[in-house]
Amino acid sequence: MAEIPRQARAVIIGGGVSGCSVAYHLAKMGWTDVVLLERKQLTSGTTWHAAGLIGQLRGSANMTRLAKYSADLYVKLAAETGVETGMRQVGSISVALTEARHEELLRQATVARIFDVEVHEISPAVAKAKYPHLNIDGVVGAVALPLDGQCDPANIAMALAKGARMRGAQIFEHTRVTGVTKAAGRVTGVDYIGADGEPGHIATDVVVNCGGMWGRDLAEASGVTLPLHACEHFYLVTEPVEGLGHLPVLRVPDECAYYKSDAGKMMVGAFEPKAKPWGMTGWGQTGIRDDFMFDTLPEDWDHFQPILEHAMNRLPLFQTAGIHTFFNGPESFTPDDRYYLGEAPELGGYWIAAGYNSVGIAGSGGAGMALAHWITEGEAPFDLWEVDIRRAQPFQRNRSYLKERVSETLGLLYADHFPYRQVVTSRGVRRSPIHDHLKARGAVFGEVAGWERANWFANEGQEQEYHYSWKRQNWFDNQRAEHMAVREGVGFFDMTSFGKIRVEGSDACRFLNRVSSAEMDVATGRIVYTMFLNDRGGIEADLTVTRLSETAYLLVVPGATLQRNLAWLRSHLGDDFAVITDMTAAESVLCVMGPKSRDLMQRLSPADFSNTAHPFGTAREIEAGMGLARAHRVTYVGELGWELYVASDQTAHVFEAIEAAGADLGLKLCGLHTLDSCRIEKAYRHWGHDITDEDHVLDAGLGFTASRKKPAYIGRDAVLRREDEGLPRKLVQFRLADPEPLLFHNEALVRDGQIIGPVTSGNYGHFLGGAVGLGYVPCKGQSDADILGSAYEIEVAGQRHKAIASLTPMHDPKSERVRA
Ligand SMILES: Cc1cc2nc3c(=O)[nH]c(=O)nc-3n(C[C@H](O)[C@H](O)[C@H](O)COP(=O)(O)OP(=O)(O)OC[C@H]3O[C@@H](n4cnc5c(N)ncnc54)[C@H](O)[C@@H]3O)c2cc1C
Repeated sequence: MAEIPRQARAVIIGGGVSGCSVAYHLAKMGWTDVVLLERKQLTSGTTWHAAGLIGQLRGSANMTRLAKYSADLYVKLAAETGVETGMRQVGSISVALTEARHEELLRQATVARIFDVEVHEISPAVAKAKYPHLNIDGVVGAVALPLDGQCDPANIAMALAKGARMRGAQIFEHTRVTGVTKAAGRVTGVDYIGADGEPGHIATDVVVNCGGMWGRDLAEASGVTLPLHACEHFYLVTEPVEGLGHLPVLRVPDECAYYKSDAGKMMVGAFEPKAKPWGMTGWGQTGIRDDFMFDTLPEDWDHFQPILEHAMNRLPLFQTAGIHTFFNGPESFTPDDRYYLGEAPELGGYWIAAGYNSVGIAGSGGAGMALAHWITEGEAPFDLWEVDIRRAQPFQRNRSYLKERVSETLGLLYADHFPYRQVVTSRGVRRSPIHDHLKARGAVFGEVAGWERANWFANEGQEQEYHYSWKRQNWFDNQRAEHMAVREGVGFFDMTSFGKIRVEGSDACRFLNRVSSAEMDVATGRIVYTMFLNDRGGIEADLTVTRLSETAYLLVVPGATLQRNLAWLRSHLGDDFAVITDMTAAESVLCVMGPKSRDLMQRLSPADFSNTAHPFGTAREIEAGMGLARAHRVTYVGELGWELYVASDQTAHVFEAIEAAGADLGLKLCGLHTLDSCRIEKAYRHWGHDITDEDHVLDAGLGFTASRKKPAYIGRDAVLRREDEGLPRKLVQFRLADPEPLLFHNEALVRDGQIIGPVTSGNYGHFLGGAVGLGYVPCKGQSDADILGSAYEIEVAGQRHKAIASLTPMHDPKSERVRA
């Protein structure tokens, strides 16, 4: 047997499908010097017992892209490696038992179509013809994907491992990684106990944690946050059923079940609404056993019973078939049902591909490919924010939080994915100092990055809760009233969840000038809207930067991207002298927005809020009530307004003073849904949707933030190059002509009859009188007149609606209201 090398270019921890895929793709990209260490045997964690469904229908564009890559790869893998993978494109059918589910399936089908995934909307009768065992009572509609597949999961992993070995990678089983060594914030190697029981060390500067449900503890030992937790996951297999035939995979999400036929037997798997977390540590529980290998967990018939009852009705063959296997095995789940990829913000060279939420077989092919590119090129091959490890918040590694949350997220995979749907478990961890004030005034909260945020305000006597739907939800009229108050009067928003980063030191200006697209050497008190660009001109962040003094700046970023933004800053600091501090919890952000906001400010404070005394884009300290605040004159809703940065201890007082000042001005408390509907009318971009690291700043229409005068900053060359070459596409604003349909995002944008891409974000323009969305229009060599000369439609759940296009904001195109 080969000896474990003392040095490697990369060490992968874990030999499940994830680790094997990362090894395969790194090797394929020329990393021949790769070592994979597995504590027991390949696939012996979760991979060996997966059901093997390879589905391509996903909720978003890039997840569909990755799932399609996996399916395409697995079809070719047997021929390439000689390992029989059992991959068969048997197709799949998903059936809807409610109108709402039908709409969701049709919307997902639209996303699939954008990426050339073959998908057909089919009637219940056609579903029955394709799946004779199916009882179609209550079936409203269905979609079929002929190229979806099923496979033997262990052999997929084995084939990937073989493919990696064929290209030089080395794999060692019964070799447990005991620690990752580090120096100066970077990985230097891994310590392990080998198959012979002897300790060893491999020097490397790239480690990939593919440790599945062991991944959290493994990461924590290195100071890295990887929030995941195992749950018990169940399926049942019948004895052989006579005349079963060859069947596609069947999903009945409304009954929390999927069905797969294999070798004459039928399998039913469960995504029950309340799952059973497993493998707990602490409070006397001992976690995953050291000798865990190809283990199964005890049966739980009571838990599975509701699924089986549905199965006996939906597929009557279950009434008579004998039971061959009741399977229960652990799988890792994450707080938002999305896996983690990328480099840990806490430790350079520590990469992650873990937390697969029961789609690890279908997901790992694409994820391994994407991660291999990311490691090799230092940048994600395309926007992977949805699965980026930098979305994890440090507090999320708390095990009580995780245990409670994953009891919900397993079931959410098959729940209705209504827009604006909020989780119900593990809530309330991060709260604004005025949380209880807002709650008492009707706030209905949503959660982002652990923050409770008022999304909308219920009227007196109205239930303070969501009623979800794909149509207008119960808060639509509340949003309209809030929206109109912002446009015509004055609205209040609590934006305390903003991430706030202080950058201070003698080189703060020089450092920020290097990472920002806009000029940072501005007068104290100036607020600058800027981008952080990557070398491709892609947008790593959009933010405002306020110069607080000669040597101190405040950076304000979305709450959800704070860790990513901190990581970007820290990794680019180099030798500049500046201290980067997360100040998020120190200050609240209370915003007053709307044409009457100046009147309100003048009642709140003796300061002068005229354009001369306090112009747009400046910040200064003011007295507010009996406290102090820093008033920033900026807006994300496209109106006159101020954001007040208030010390956390004075927040409740200043809020009460704002309420008193606004009482006879009709001050309206507004939620985040209204913030979004207002910003989209003004065509302000939303990072993560309209603008990402994949989107060039000029294509996004944000070239005005990219200085042509500054001699050097990251992304400058890409800006100049794009200017020379011309734009391949432009971000365009659309409004549906019909005021009825709604846009959320990921609907298909259709130009002169052809699908050209997804709607990147959408909301309802209550002031404009219809749904508004943004989306990129390919336009190489075309003029603005050519772009606007086309006929546009937007496909919503299979139906196309006429859309009006605009290259300038439909609301306040000259920013006269903002600067009023
Ligand atoms: C019942 C069930 C049905 C499923 N059905 C499907 C399906 O139909 N389709 C689908 O796509 N997915 C399915 N899944 C999910 C899929 O099985 C998982 O997402 C996938 O196997 C996860 O792979 P992994 O490599 O991340 O984890 P694992 O397979 O658990 O691999 C992690 C490996 O890391 C090793 N390891 C841990 N710590 C160390 C250490 N310190 N040193 C060295 N090695 C270490 C472990 O021994 C383990 O082998 C199902 C899961 C279950 C439980």
